Amino acid sequence: AKAEGRNRYHFFTHALSQQLRQHRDIAANLRTSLSNNEFELLYQPQYDLKTGKVASCEALLRWRPQNESLAVPPNVFIPIAERSDLIVQIGNWVLENACQQARLWKEKGIEVRIDVNVSGKELEKTAYFERLADCRNQYHLLPKDIGLELTENILIKSDNAILENLRYQRDLGVEISLDDFGTGYSSLSYLKHFPVSHLKIDRSFLKGAPEKAFDSALMEAIVNVGHKLDLFIVVEGVETEQQSDYCKSLNVEFVQGYLYSKPISADAMEALLEKQG
Ligand code: C2E
Ligand code: CA
Ligand code: CA
Ligand code: CA
Repeated sequence: AKAEGRNRYHFFTHALSQQLRQHRDIAANLRTSLSNNEFELLYQPQYDLKTGKVASCEALLRWRPQNESLAVPPNVFIPIAERSDLIVQIGNWVLENACQQARLWKEKGIEVRIDVNVSGKELEKTAYFERLADCRNQYHLLPKDIGLELTENILIKSDNAILENLRYQRDLGVEISLDDFGTGYSSLSYLKHFPVSHLKIDRSFLKGAPEKAFDSALMEAIVNVGHKLDLFIVVEGVETEQQSDYCKSLNVEFVQGYLYSKPISADAMEALLEKQG
């Protein structure tokens, strides 16, 4: 039994050091990719349920290392990048490229807001809001052209200075979405303290609705409170017509999901926007 315990101990420490090594390698490769510009932004449309038209789009990062076998999806590399300052450089790249894209589209007469995902670690650096303003100025954009997506856990942990900065951006006209709503540690009562304009309900709630009474009760409660607080509701992960109809029945404003479109390249997004006029 003692030997077995020792083996298990070795097994775990081995697995742990292997994982550490893996994370260290991913971080090193990300660093290389940053200097080689080996990333791409895909865009996923967010539809206005009333008009059926694209209202905005979310920028989603993809890693395209030269050695394709090194690539891992964002839900793997973002958390690793968040453990170091890498996320700040990656966030810069995302912001810069989203602004550049918004400018290109404007020049072609295409007006669409681009929402970028922002990590808590980026906000902690006070320079974030200066960079945002600089980027908007550099590409001659308006505050409404670039939206921010933040999770509730970020907002709960944010100090007053960050909340003040966010409030200021809201006053300027920046749309701020509370991402993955319902999966974090906050409660509905927190909502009125956060400077947000949109509530994005996490797709896990939609999954069981409308059949599962508990899931639909939660969906309805979130939508109702959101609307009482004058927030727009966005439902993500809409995959079926039935889910779309359910969102309509709840008077949800915006939907996003594979039913409408997967995240697509800038060119494909442009074609989509041009087609709808
Ligand atoms: P998220 O912000 O919640 O983004 C939504 C994720 O759901 C995306 O995964 C999207 O491709 C996926 N999705 C969209 N519609 C559907 C659907 O109908 N069904 C299903 N099953 N999935 C759907 P993706 O692109 O792999 O991104 C994963 C996460 O990585 C994002 O979750 C976000 O937290 C993070 N991320 C992505 N890009 C960035 C970025 O530029 N910066 C930061 N900080 N995080 C990012
Ligand atoms: Ca998001
Ligand atoms: Ca989300
Ligand atoms: Ca998520």
